[in-house]
Formats: sequence, structure tokens, C-alpha cells
Amino acid sequence: MNTIATRLDDVRQCIRSAATKYGRPNHSIQLLAVSKTRPAEDIRSAIEAGQHSFGENYLQEAAEKIQQLADAQAEWHFIGRIQSNKTKIIATHFDWVHGLCSFKHAQRLNDQRPDKLPPLNVCLQINLSNEQSKAGITPAEAAELAGLIHALPRLHLKGLMTLPAPAETLLQQRQPFQALRELRDQIKTDTLPLDTLSMGMSGDLEAAIAEGATIVRIGTAIFGPRNHRK
Ligand SMILES: *Cc1c(COP(=O)(O)O)cnc(C)c1O
Repeated sequence: MNTIATRLDDVRQCIRSAATKYGRPNHSIQLLAVSKTRPAEDIRSAIEAGQHSFGENYLQEAAEKIQQLADAQAEWHFIGRIQSNKTKIIATHFDWVHGLCSFKHAQRLNDQRPDKLPPLNVCLQINLSNEQSKAGITPAEAAELAGLIHALPRLHLKGLMTLPAPAETLLQQRQPFQALRELRDQIKTDTLPLDTLSMGMSGDLEAAIAEGATIVRIGTAIFGPRNHRK
């Protein structure tokens, strides 16, 4: 087995162990392989090792790789920051968007989603104050924005996402994930179940699963350390 296949196996094992430890079915947790800055060959190695969905942050780089890997039928998730003038690339190339923070971006994505594609799956990014990136809406804004986005026919609102700053202990890591789950439980409705909790990265995978993550976004633990971005 190559390195990526071995690391993928290790990550899957971590997910299984955490699922068992916290009494969750293993299949309730989807592994999103974060492939930003990695060449298409690395992604292909992961696909050959059974990985299906990939997360990308940088649009130009992502669009090239998506084209190179068009034969592979992978699922593509945009997890970077959305810029208004780039929404069309997102709407035409991706299956999911995790970092939606404004109704303006939602409307643009809705309008630009090609008819031949299914509705774009989206998650609202929530800023829980200890946020690494400063992006995201406040918890108080979430219910209203969720309602507005729910009315857009070319978007499918799946749930909430957060990107907390790194924390040392398991207990500290669990706090923002617990807050995201509780917010989801507050604002979900029968017509808007918000099943997805997109939370947890290489360094806080167990904490996220403990608090109910349904998508974990894992880069380094699968592909190795990233080169610093230009
Ligand atoms: C880069 C990135 C990840 C993956 O981080 P790792 O620590 O490499 O696992 C997850 N989510 C987002 C939004 C990212 O930008």
C-alpha cells in the first residue's frame, strides 16, 4: 500500500474507534478528505484507496484538479472562503459548499447553479467566537438566514459548519463542537432538519465525533503536512 492508502486506513480506524467509544454508528460519520494544495495524483491515490469526497479551498487550483479527475466521479466540497465574484465557479464545479455566511452569496449560488445539476448542498458557517478564521455568522443570525436559504430552490441547506481555533485538551476541543450541536438542535425544524454537522479536522477528530459530527474534514492526517501557502 502507498502512504496515502495507509494513512487513510489509519484515519478510518480512528473514526471507527471514536464512533464506538461515543456510541455512534460508524456510517453516521462521513470522511471528507481535504486535498487543498495537493496534486491530482495524490487525490487519485486516495480515490483508488476507496475515498469518494474531497474538500478544496482555492478555486483555481480546485477547478483544474476537478477537470483532471473528471473520470473519477468524485464528490467535491468547497470549504474555503466565498468571494462574490467567484460564486459561479463554485456553483458549476462543486457538489457541496461548507462556508456559506451570507444571503447575498446564497442568492448568487442559487441563480448560478446549472439546471442540469442537482441543487447545491450547503452548510452555514457559524463563528463561535473562538474561531480560527473569523469567517461565519453569529449563532443569533443562524435561524433567520437558514429560513431564507431554505426558500431557494437550487440550494439544499444541509446543516452547520464551524472551524474553531486549535485547542489543547479534548475537553477544550469539545466546547465549540458542543455549541454547534446545541445551536443546530435549537434552530432545526421538521421541514429543515439540519442533519449535517461539519466539524473536526486532523487535530480534533475525536472531540468532533464525541459531539455529533457527521462530516469530518481531514487533510494532514491523510496527505501529510502541507507546504506553506504562497
Ligand atoms: C485545511 C482545512 C481542513 C483540514 O485541516 P487538517 O488540519 O489538515 O486536517 C479542514 N477544514 C477547513 C475549512 C480547512 O481549511
